[in-house]
Amino acid sequence: MSERTPAGATPARRGGGEVERAGGGGAAPARRSLFPAPGQGFGVTFGQMFKKVTTEQYPETPKVTKPRYHGRHVLNRHPDGLEKCVGCELCAWACPADAIYVEGGDNTEDERYSPGERYGRVYQINYLRCIFCGLCIEACPTRSLTMSNDFELADDNRADLIYTKEQLMAPLLPGMEAPPHAMRLGEDEKAYYVREPEAGSAAEPVTVERA
Ligand code: SF4
Ligand code: SF4
Repeated sequence: MSERTPAGATPARRGGGEVERAGGGGAAPARRSLFPAPGQGFGVTFGQMFKKVTTEQYPETPKVTKPRYHGRHVLNRHPDGLEKCVGCELCAWACPADAIYVEGGDNTEDERYSPGERYGRVYQINYLRCIFCGLCIEACPTRSLTMSNDFELADDNRADLIYTKEQLMAPLLPGMEAPPHAMRLGEDEKAYYVREPEAGSAAEPVTVERA
């Protein structure tokens, strides 16, 4: 058996041009089979031939993910259709990949998009950068931002992988009205945040329909 190489020392050369790695011991593991190496390799191949094959029929049969799978994001709405996003940019600051861009705008009584003072006027997520860690949804104070189970995000150009607010907004469900409009659930904006989620409201998991 060869001697170990001290940490930081130049690795020693062994016979046949093989380099002994520091700390690796250098010795080849003892052979446990009587068969030569090629025979062992073909044995693995033959063994696989008689195992049950697992074939995913994707995309004909879409893959069903786990319920908590981190897929593409959704910007949710209140039950009257107003946007939950208040343009605070906390999600953008929390993102380790710098994948979110937000510009806030001021709501007015004539043009209201969210119950707060401000709303997300511009909202973009760059899916070339996103690592689907979920830190942005943890940072969101209004539960505006959540993640769906949609994983079909491949494309062949950069522009189509920067999703805009229009692409990320949750669809309007029955009973919702597209903003801008006045607050329908009371004039106190806090009422929007303490409401219990209603069955079928945007607080329920959103299924993203693809075009
Ligand atoms: S999931 Fe992670 S990487 Fe993707 S936008 Fe959110 S914080 Fe950034
Ligand atoms: S999604 Fe949430 S954290 Fe991001 S800007 Fe909107 S309200 Fe703020």
